Amino acid sequence: QAKSSGRSALSFFDPTMQAELLARVRLENELRQALANEEWRLHYQPQVDQDGRCIGVEALLRWEHPERGLVTPDVFIHLLESTELINPVGDWVLETACRQLAQWARQPAFAKLSVAVNVSALQFRQVDFVGKVEAILQRTGAPCHKLKLEVTESLFVEARDDAREKMLRLKQHGVRFALDDYGTGYSSLAYLAHLPLDQLKIDKSFVQQVIESKANAAIVESTIALAKSLSLEVIAEGVASDAQQTWLLSHGCRTYQGHRYGQPMPLAALETQLTTEHAS
Ligand code: C2E
Ligand code: MG
Ligand code: MG
Ligand code: MG
Repeated sequence: QAKSSGRSALSFFDPTMQAELLARVRLENELRQALANEEWRLHYQPQVDQDGRCIGVEALLRWEHPERGLVTPDVFIHLLESTELINPVGDWVLETACRQLAQWARQPAFAKLSVAVNVSALQFRQVDFVGKVEAILQRTGAPCHKLKLEVTESLFVEARDDAREKMLRLKQHGVRFALDDYGTGYSSLAYLAHLPLDQLKIDKSFVQQVIESKANAAIVESTIALAKSLSLEVIAEGVASDAQQTWLLSHGCRTYQGHRYGQPMPLAALETQLTTEHAS
């Protein structure tokens, strides 16, 4: 008691807080170097139709840290966003994904794949975001209609008209939009009617409990119905079992992503998996 009240006035010098602060500063410095050191990687997770055929992939960012090994986004995305490093890193993600898309378009076994890329709200709000994407599409020769940008509800809290206008400009080229993590955000239904979206992604937190929890089942069911009535495609993320897929299919959801069909994996592993499926 005495100890904790004694240090609260000078909490900045609390040794554990100081250690955390130092660790964060170090992480930020490492993140600043990661682009120059070519430590960013893209992994790809399959998206499948009701027959299990891979129709697309989601590109997911990984950091190949020299000592820590492969680091997942939960550790660094918020830091990239708070330091605005999300813009150069996001550019790298888009460029890499589009280059891959262009390569796949030339190979019969992969030509049908679409690629979904996560775009953070900060990135989308850059004044020149549309121009950047256009330049990347042109430079890489990626087929525009196979690129899907995943945005979240946070994008529409402010500057909704600006978001809409940017989306419409990109849609003129054929670029498509998915609303990621649907149901976890602000859940204002107004923007759904207002925005030119193509797909709703049902968040994995609902899908994972869809069999066990009546409440989650109700949320998933109503999301599928909402997507249908707004003429949006719907995909369930975090599908981990046959039982979940069967439930989803019987409720009208025909596109899936999750460990049941493959974890996010490096390019070579994905191509091996798809080639094996294509052959059989
Ligand atoms: P997200 O876009 O919702 O991506 C889906 C996340 O769910 C991925 O986590 C994926 O590995 C995980 N997942 C997929 N299937 C399953 C499953 O069956 N079970 C479980 N438990 N998890 C599954 P990951 O790769 O760690 O990415 C986390 C988040 O980081 C992403 O969520 C996305 O919001 C963000 N992110 C990833 N890459 C990028 C990027 O390039 N740019 C931006 N701005 N954000 C990114
Ligand atoms: Mg996503
Ligand atoms: Mg998601
Ligand atoms: Mg998520």
